[in-house]
Amino acid sequence: MLVGDGIGPELSLCIEDILHYIHDSSSTLKFNINKVEAGDEAKKKYGKALPDDTFEKIKKSQACLKSPVGESAADVVLVLRRYFELYANVRPSKNYINIPAISHGVDLVTVRENTEDLYLGWEFYSDEDTVISLRKISRNASKRIAEYAFKIANSRKGKKITIVHKSNVLRLSDRLFIDTSKEVAKKYPEIEFEEMYVDACSMELIRDPRRFDTILTTNLFGDIISDEAAQVTGSIGLAPAANIGENFAMFEPVHGAAFDIAGKNIANPTSFILALKMMFEWMSEKYRDTSLLNESLKIERAVDELFTKKIKTKDIGGTLSTKEFNQKFLSILSNESSKK
Ligand code: ATP
Repeated sequence: MLVGDGIGPELSLCIEDILHYIHDSSSTLKFNINKVEAGDEAKKKYGKALPDDTFEKIKKSQACLKSPVGESAADVVLVLRRYFELYANVRPSKNYINIPAISHGVDLVTVRENTEDLYLGWEFYSDEDTVISLRKISRNASKRIAEYAFKIANSRKGKKITIVHKSNVLRLSDRLFIDTSKEVAKKYPEIEFEEMYVDACSMELIRDPRRFDTILTTNLFGDIISDEAAQVTGSIGLAPAANIGENFAMFEPVHGAAFDIAGKNIANPTSFILALKMMFEWMSEKYRDTSLLNESLKIERAVDELFTKKIKTKDIGGTLSTKEFNQKFLSILSNESSKK
């Protein structure tokens, strides 16, 4: 587990407590938790936002939980995404009971290409007043993410994909992205698919978010759209993200280091808890282990029960501190574990 900056350390403590609880209470699941440093504080201490020791430990692990990182986020996240080829960024957004939201009845997932686009950071000055940024979209990466998105859509009730792009302006790159996605779509005749310009999608997410089930898009658009979707269904404090590769995956809250509330014991740990849930889900599929899936389902049910009982932190209309909320979560999780 990568500790990070801002609210990262306090949220990591919550997740550590939950992992220890699962480890100690489960008769089948045993694992080691390695806590490692990364981010602004690590850069001050070791001269590198992703210190060598951290990187080596992550390489030796089976999955990584990453708490938010501050200004040096790109030096950590982008490096890890690139090294492990974490090509799919998956961000579910849905409503929870008793959580104030702009819209209700929403249950969607954004699947974002995670390795290309403007996020390669290929920028240079062509003269002292002009910067050129290069955008890369390749057929291989587009096909890989489309296949992943259709696989996800196929496992969901909605059975619908919206491909989000801006091909009227980005005529070559986004045309390649859509044409490749359409090729993949032919293999899934049972999945309805539509195309939408990214600006129209931003409006539709406010006007009628229930129309979306799986959104497939490129890196930058996906980053923005998924933050919007998180806010539409409640709070960024409830939104998890998974960065998935062929052999490795990293799970994190969608939000950043939130320095404005750091150290105040008011941050909402739910998005990180839901990221933990996604990790167990992914591992259960990878290792074909149903006990991991059970842990993920227990976490999901415990979060539902918390909100049903109106147990909430301040950002979502409650009164509890981070620590109090996590204690309540742990006690509900232990009740879940005693149900068989
Ligand atoms: P980044 O650019 O990395 O996304 P940011 O500081 O611009 O970071 P966030 O850290 O995502 O944006 O947070 C935006 C605001 O949302 C914060 O200022 C904070 O008030 C609130 N926020 C974010 N995460 C949480 C959380 N877990 N619990 C409560 N409030 C949060």
